[in-house]
Amino acid sequence: MISGRCLCDGVRFQIAGDVGSPSFCHCSQCRRASGSAFATNAGVSTAEFHLTAGGELVREYESSPGKFRAFCSRCGSPLYSRERDHPEFRRIRLGTLDEDPAVRPLLHVWVGSKAPWFTISDSLPQLEKGDA
Ligand SMILES: [Zn+2]
Ligand SMILES: [Zn+2]
Repeated sequence: MISGRCLCDGVRFQIAGDVGSPSFCHCSQCRRASGSAFATNAGVSTAEFHLTAGGELVREYESSPGKFRAFCSRCGSPLYSRERDHPEFRRIRLGTLDEDPAVRPLLHVWVGSKAPWFTISDSLPQLEKGDA
């Protein structure tokens, strides 16, 4: 069981299963949603993702048709994204986790949209586009 929470501690969740392989997403939406160079996202099973507190604080923004980004309406922390066409998965934001998920990022995606002021300095594969 892995737990996570937003910055203000109002929204809490637990993952009762495995966290998928994370990736660093440099797409312009993840940059804006995180306010940083990239977001670190990983897939989890919706059936194994449980909001344990603060469900009333969660708001969703439809950043692309059918893709919703959930965040805490009090503190602004990004929490996860979900897609209407793939309700069985959601992609959590690794920075919200309390524990080590025991998985490590495997690649950079949407490097074609990377912030010009950020230099990737590891040896992980880089995809021009990608899914995150
Ligand atoms: Zn919050
Ligand atoms: Zn992204």
